[in-house]
Amino acid sequence: MSLPPPTCVLVLRFSAVGDVLLTAGVLTALKRAWPNTRIVYVTKLGLVPLVADHPAVDAVVGLAPGESLGAFRARLKHQAPDAVLDLHDKLRSQWLRLTVGAARKAVWHKRPFWAGLCARLGLSRYRATSLIAERYHDAVEQLVGAKVEPGPLSYHPNEASRGRVAALLAEFKLDSSTPVIGMAPGSMWETKRWPPEHFAALARFARAQGYQVLLSGSQPEAVVTRAVAEASGAIDLAGRVSLADLGAFIERCRAFVANDSGPMHLARALGVPTLALFGSTDPGQFDFKGHALLYANLECSPCSLYGRRTCPKGHFRCMRELDDGRAQQALQRLLEGPARLPLVRG
Ligand code: SF4
Repeated sequence: MSLPPPTCVLVLRFSAVGDVLLTAGVLTALKRAWPNTRIVYVTKLGLVPLVADHPAVDAVVGLAPGESLGAFRARLKHQAPDAVLDLHDKLRSQWLRLTVGAARKAVWHKRPFWAGLCARLGLSRYRATSLIAERYHDAVEQLVGAKVEPGPLSYHPNEASRGRVAALLAEFKLDSSTPVIGMAPGSMWETKRWPPEHFAALARFARAQGYQVLLSGSQPEAVVTRAVAEASGAIDLAGRVSLADLGAFIERCRAFVANDSGPMHLARALGVPTLALFGSTDPGQFDFKGHALLYANLECSPCSLYGRRTCPKGHFRCMRELDDGRAQQALQRLLEGPARLPLVRG
């Protein structure tokens, strides 16, 4: 006999940008299964804007920097949850899941434990056998106790963000009739970065075809975007577009080019044709249907679950071998296709 739907479900995922974005399909699926259940998303305060406007989300509770877990749990209890979907499964979320007072719980499993441990220790390479979004969805069905139609990877910029982005582009006196190609050449980890000279060559190619090229990035990534801008004439917006407004910026782009990073997920979540560049990490975790992916698939790759500071082999061929000609062809194909693509699974 199936249980009645809960009154309130907490969805826990504290980091990182890409992982939070990839939970979008879960939220849609949960709302489909339990249309009258209040869905409360729980994440770090800085990531709240990534899910706050998702139509399935009723409220978001953000963990403030320095906030004690006891105080945070009290705030969660105030929501009176009777179900918890733990999409993080680390010490903090495990403790909250067990102590917040909800009778119904489900947990996702990122990868088989031993395979993950061996990959972290550098003993073996880990290649995903399913999408992260599919494993998130398995946890939804476990919680609901029935098959549920999966939701897509989606993102929903709000009007305030759109207004701020329009004001920023007006400040740069951009020609609104010329289509924009966005590029995010940064990434937190060095081995996930296609070298700036390659991004610059692709930006010059796009500009020669009549596109405006705008570069996005966080303030720490400005050193990379500046190098690309100086070598290509692209416009550098690093540090000028907040995480909250990044979706509203990307949705203005005719196509987007990015490393394995949060902006790459955001672009696909908006259906913006995306060229993704992968080196030391595994693209098999994500759905690129309709988009473009460049991956050298070397003997040594993927060498990392998340990325590294330096190439352990010293040659960094996984990224250096993604040559300019292939990237130009891939971008050209995207530009010859539809301006918006159907949403992918995740
Ligand atoms: S070249 Fe191989 S070892 Fe070096 S960063 Fe890339 S995947 Fe890792």
